[in-house]
Amino acid sequence: MNIILLGPPGAGKGTQAQMLVSERGMVQLSTGDMLREAKTSGTEMGKMVADVMARGELVTDDIVIGLIREKLDGSKSGGFIFDGFPRTLGQADALTTLLSEMGADLDKVVELRVDDDMLVSRIVNRANEAAAEGKPVRADDNEDSLRVRLMSYYKLTSPLIGYYHAKGLLTSIDGMGTMDEVKAGIAAALEP
Ligand code: ADP
Repeated sequence: MNIILLGPPGAGKGTQAQMLVSERGMVQLSTGDMLREAKTSGTEMGKMVADVMARGELVTDDIVIGLIREKLDGSKSGGFIFDGFPRTLGQADALTTLLSEMGADLDKVVELRVDDDMLVSRIVNRANEAAAEGKPVRADDNEDSLRVRLMSYYKLTSPLIGYYHAKGLLTSIDGMGTMDEVKAGIAAALEP
């Protein structure tokens, strides 16, 4: 089963994806993680995207589609969790094509709904906790970048909700509960 976790920054996509990985053996494909890895390892692409990411803007479709293509290339179809991808309609169309080239399909899209106040407080807490523990704080976990990230989400990514609804793939669930409540919501959404 191939699924997308859709939702704004701070909705809990990464946390829930990791639980699906450890409990169901699915494979998480997070373009945010891939881009941060490219940045840390200092590749040309990583250097190119660092400023864009720090500002909270989206990197180009070509770059993220390229990253996903590399991961899907030659892998057996089935069991992917797309986390933070697709983020634009162009990326969504590219994903359909990439999957169909592998003889695979998208099975479900789960939207995690969280209101803006909670998103902001979760991200601010994440940054404060990291700082207090002496861990690195994400360059885009600050108020200015967060505002841009939210705007990008509503402007460019949220149209995917309608798109996947029209394709009959969408389930929207409440992402405001505890991690276990959200996990249960996702499990119910993934039932056949
Ligand atoms: P979050 O969901 O917390 O905002 P991510 O870790 O998914 O963060 O992504 C961090 C940043 O990486 C984004 O703000 C954006 O700059 C870039 N990025 C990640 N995925 C994509 C994508 N699919 N398309 C364009 N940019 C992306």
